[in-house]
Parts: sequence; structure tokens; C-alpha cells
Amino acid sequence: MTFSALVVEKDEDSGKTSAAIQQISLDDLPEGEVTVAVEYTTVNYKDGLCMGPGAGLVRNYPHVPGIDFAGTVETSSDGRYKPGDKVVLTGWRVGEAHWGGYAQKARVRADWLVPLPEGLDTRRAMAVGTAGLTAMLAIMALEDHGLTPGADPVLVTGASGGVGSVAIAVLAQLGYKVAAVTGRPETGDYLRDLGATQIVPREDLTEVTKKPLEGEQWAGCIDAVAGAMLGRVLKQMKYGASVAAIGLAGGAAIEGALITPFILRGVKLLGIDSVRQPYSRRVEAWKRIALHLPMDKLEAMIQPAVLADLPGLGRDILDGNVKGRIVVDVNG
Ligand code: NDP
Repeated sequence: MTFSALVVEKDEDSGKTSAAIQQISLDDLPEGEVTVAVEYTTVNYKDGLCMGPGAGLVRNYPHVPGIDFAGTVETSSDGRYKPGDKVVLTGWRVGEAHWGGYAQKARVRADWLVPLPEGLDTRRAMAVGTAGLTAMLAIMALEDHGLTPGADPVLVTGASGGVGSVAIAVLAQLGYKVAAVTGRPETGDYLRDLGATQIVPREDLTEVTKKPLEGEQWAGCIDAVAGAMLGRVLKQMKYGASVAAIGLAGGAAIEGALITPFILRGVKLLGIDSVRQPYSRRVEAWKRIALHLPMDKLEAMIQPAVLADLPGLGRDILDGNVKGRIVVDVNG
């Protein structure tokens, strides 16, 4: 029996990659204790890289990308899962070092899965996906470092992207004031509907300045952008506040940053990586998402897609042209 998968191949001579839908079989799948009938997957920034240039992330060609998926267990040699169980996978270098969710079936290690949290179906779980899980992990890290709802806003950069959208909706639901930084002014209504109380134009925060500190404005920050923006934001944090750095859509360096915010304002920079999160932390984060993320707001973030759309969507996300979350029905 064969099934559809998006397979990326690399031409050894030119080094160029190409992605196309192919028919593959269970024998082609990598080893793992659990075989899952995939129902939904998503397009994250990393997926864009893995479908295209690879950026050193993809460890084996031909490769099936897809860093997250949700579906139903078909077979399992691990006692924690039985056929019919609904499961979610994020991280563990699936879709990079191990074939991922851009196929109608996937085979993975049981340790990498979590049971589908109560309150979410597989489609909505993938509307959340790695991006939403990361947003929740960032909020949990900020709260672990003392963030509570108050008069000062929490800044969310890369606001109209996947991580940003979920972060805004959850923070607003938890009672935080949220300032959303976007380079796309036309997304203002979308961001306000998600719960942003203030829209900050991207250009207000991308000019590199030599000032050691600026006025204290932000009670916390979830930063998906890094680059010049993170350098500016660090100088505008309230005394003792934390920045959860989750991504680098605007560049890998922290430009223009000085040590001053860390010394004179006790600012903390927390790095968040969703890839190797322990089981208990993943389960807690998923439970909190199901509890605190309003489903009407999640629905408003969804851009539906099918397997054949993936290569084009990969290019869109790398170009910063995706709003909210792409949800791919692999059987559609
Ligand atoms: P998206 O592409 O959905 O969103 C990124 C957003 O950043 C864009 O929508 C845009 O928002 C903004 N942006 C894009 N390019 C630039 C730029 N050059 N300068 C400033 N802002 C820019 O990606 P995700 O939200 O899924 O992921 C965001 C980042 O987080 C990526 O770098 C990704 O690799 C990383 N990530 C990290 C994870 C982890 O575990 N740490 C997990 C998931 C993602 P706007 O138009 O509103 O300005």
C-alpha cells in the first residue's frame, strides 16, 4: 500500500534541492515504535528552510520535512500508546534528522509524542503546532521569572507570525496588556482582534542606536525577530523584566546591544527552544494552551492548505508573508 508524501531530494552535483509529492510505502519510513496516520501538519519557518535550501538542518536526503503533526496511532510497540489514540508531535529534530509530518503516515519514537490534549482536536492542535507550543513555553518562562498581569504591556515581536499570533491571544486571555510589533500595518485589525492593545510599527524598533538605555516600557517581551530589534527592546525593558527570545526572523545577531540593560536594569534574556522539551513540560504547556487559548481566536489564525500547497507556502514563510498559522490537511 502506498501513500502520499512531500519528498525533498538533493542533486549531489549541483547541491540544489527539489520538493515534489511522491507515493511512498511503510517500508520507506524510518524506524520508531509508533506508526501514526497523520491527519494535520503545519508550515513553520524551519519547514520553509527544510523544503528549500536546507540551511544545514536536513540531515538526510531524500527527506520528508514537517517538524510537527497530529494524527491517530495505527500501530505501537510501546505500552504508552495503542491503535486509535490521538497524538501530537513537535520537535526532537523530526522533519530535519528524522522524516516528519509531510506524509499521510509517519513513524517516530514513542518518547517524542504527547497524547492529544483534552479540548483540542487534531486540526486545532496543528493550528497551535510548534509555533503555539513555543509561544506558551515563552509565557511560562516569563511567568517563572516573575511576570504577572499589570499596567505595563508585554511586547510581542513578529506579531502577525505563528508564534506572535498565539502569544498575543494567550497573553490577552490571561489578562496581560499586549503591544504587538509588526512590519505589516494592514494586519492591525487582526492583531487587535487577537487581543493586542497597542500596535508598534516595526521601523520604530529597527534603527540601531548608540544609547545605552531608553525609557522603561515593557513588563516582558516575547521576541521572534532578534537582530536590531532585540538590541533596541533590551534597552526599553522595565527594571528586572525578562525577554523570552524564541527566534531570529530578523537576523541571527543581537545588533547594537550593550551590557547596560543587564547591569543597570537587571534585565534577563531567556532562550526558549521547543525542540528538546521534557515530556512533563510539553504536557503542561499543551494543557495550558487548551485551557487559555480562545478557540474563536485560534480559528481566526488558520490558513487552510493541502500537501500540494507546501512548496509555495515554504517560500511564503521564508519571505515573511504568512499571517497566523497554516494548517495542512494531509488527506485533503
Ligand atoms: P513566522 O514566519 O510565522 O513569523 C515571523 C514573523 O516575524 C513574521 O510574520 C513577521 O511579522 C516578522 N518578520 C519576518 N521577517 C522579519 C524581519 N526581517 N525583521 C523583522 N521582523 C520580521 O514564523 P514563526 O512565528 O513560526 O517563527 C518565528 C521565529 O521563531 C522563526 O525564526 C522560527 O524559526 C523561530 N521558532 C523558534 C522555535 C523555538 O523552539 N525556539 C519554535 C518555532 C519557531 P510581522 O509581519 O508582523 O512583522
